[in-house]
Amino acid sequence: MEFSSKLLERAVNEMSQLPGIGKRTALRLVLHMLRQPKEQTLALSESLHAMRNDVKFCKSCNNISDVEICEICSSANRNEEIICVVEDIRDVMAIESTSSFKGLYHVLGGKISPMDGIGPHDLTIDSLVEKVKKGVIKELIFALSSTMEGDTTNFYIYKQIQDYNVVTSTIARGISVGDELEYADEITLGRSIVNRIPFESALKL
Ligand SMILES: [Zn+2]
Repeated sequence: MEFSSKLLERAVNEMSQLPGIGKRTALRLVLHMLRQPKEQTLALSESLHAMRNDVKFCKSCNNISDVEICEICSSANRNEEIICVVEDIRDVMAIESTSSFKGLYHVLGGKISPMDGIGPHDLTIDSLVEKVKKGVIKELIFALSSTMEGDTTNFYIYKQIQDYNVVTSTIARGISVGDELEYADEITLGRSIVNRIPFESALKL
């Protein structure tokens, strides 16, 4: 691609670093920004700048938040005895939109995947186990996608906490094997939490 402007080239190169954005799409977006009012482009860059600088991860559940303890964790209307274990914030958003769950979350930040070089210590499993040790939690719901990595992660956590007095369950019905949670529709996902099954019996399937 030949550019008549170094500034244009730089903007296109930066934009094309984003996933799913090739050089052509990047050029289209950048040219669009050049045509729109300057304030709009500045608002976009300012919002990205502020997000990158000021966003926090909840100290309790690792959800993305503007404050140290997120709204869900600090809410008086949530049941702190039930923790739903998820891979990332998109799963929290998906489950919240079902309004079927009134417990708290624990965001792992991914799943164990030796192929991608992600081990248990790259995730927030240790802080989850620490929470369980404190004895407040009565139930852990594993809501990871039913892929091999998801199953491995569930089992690893289960092994860490099985000696403590906590019930483990896993979301079940309606989520097909291999599906990523964030793509499940709200009703299916809501039902799969209500109809969760004990983790031990899921192991025997
Ligand atoms: Zn939180």
